[in-house]
Amino acid sequence: MRAGAFYTYLLFAVVIFACPAAFGASAPDKHLVQITEIKTPRILTPYTRILGEIGKARSTGNIRVYHIGTSAQGRSIPMIAIAPAGATVLPKVRILIICAQHGDEPASPEVITDIINKCSHGKRPETLLSPSTRRSAPKLRHLSSVLWLVIPIANPDGFDMARRANSAGIDLNRDWLTRSQPETQAIKRVFEKWAPQIVLDLHQWSNGDPPPAENGLEMMTRPNAAAQDVLERDIAHWALRIMNGGADTVSLITSRPSANPSLAHRYFASRGAASFLIETAAGAKLAERRKVLTDLVLLISERAPLTISNNATASTHSFRYPPEFQAWFQKRYAQVDTGEAQKLKLIWFVLALWGGLVLIRQKTSAPMKEAHDADVKHKITKRNGLPDSPLFLAKSRLWYASDTASRPSRRAFSKR
Ligand SMILES: [Zn+2]
Repeated sequence: MRAGAFYTYLLFAVVIFACPAAFGASAPDKHLVQITEIKTPRILTPYTRILGEIGKARSTGNIRVYHIGTSAQGRSIPMIAIAPAGATVLPKVRILIICAQHGDEPASPEVITDIINKCSHGKRPETLLSPSTRRSAPKLRHLSSVLWLVIPIANPDGFDMARRANSAGIDLNRDWLTRSQPETQAIKRVFEKWAPQIVLDLHQWSNGDPPPAENGLEMMTRPNAAAQDVLERDIAHWALRIMNGGADTVSLITSRPSANPSLAHRYFASRGAASFLIETAAGAKLAERRKVLTDLVLLISERAPLTISNNATASTHSFRYPPEFQAWFQKRYAQVDTGEAQKLKLIWFVLALWGGLVLIRQKTSAPMKEAHDADVKHKITKRNGLPDSPLFLAKSRLWYASDTASRPSRRAFSKR
């Protein structure tokens, strides 16, 4: 290489490595750090037990776990990104699922980590629907277009103390107007970074709550229906028709713009996402809460891609995934063996096999031909005591040639 060309390449390399920002890479985000290892600690608290469950799911390599912030008492707030089985391209629809803003509501972290665990081990999410809902639901076809962004414990300090508020005594689901707490700030950063079109905030009524403390799906509606209100209505009506067509009773609650805006789902609705608050009935057993939460999360996730693609306003939203996530996703999911990829592999295998055989024959045919000629001569002489007959030799060469790669075809021979 000429010295001039060498220095040109060197300069080019220096420019590329020294100016990553100019080439699309961004500075690492301290709030979006991928958690590389989650160990199950020896002393299990409710918080560490859920972390242990996430660690188990993570061992399959099918989920991405991020540290999105730290609570006042120093506990990490994790977020899990998971695409249900069948996804091969970056999902167009992102659904943010927030659990346990209230630390004394343990059902949603329990249920959602169970869903993640099963899905990360290859279980198709539609099989997790309860039997009664599955009977009245159509085949779920759009789940593979969804990326779930799950915050399994939004209030880790409160969760460990089994109390509603965080360690500063603040009710996080009344903090959304001011966003004064590290927990609400962390979730807001996720919302800005990942731009989810749908937000689900999971709760449960307790025994002391005033009636009617029943299973409910709350959405915000406005008089001059904004795009996300249309989505909300479509999704809610579709999901509840199926669930209530089974054995469930889930009420639809509509909140007015005059309702307290400091609740998470109302805040996110005001920021352009179709947002829902899900409550499970007071006094319900974990199994019943599991059924309602799982069915609603799956049905809303199924309906969202269809509704969003039908809604021009909502689908024009431009979004770019974090480059690190994009690279991981493409490696993890896009390589998934689809039927097409398998067909292509088979074609390549057959071609390689054929090429190999041709090569072997060509290499061995020349010495084999000589050996064959000698052998035939020997046999003819031995059998008939005749001298080498050119006719015999030509005939036998023809038989031999019909069995080699370099043979003239029979047709070509007969034309001569
Ligand atoms: Zn709650």
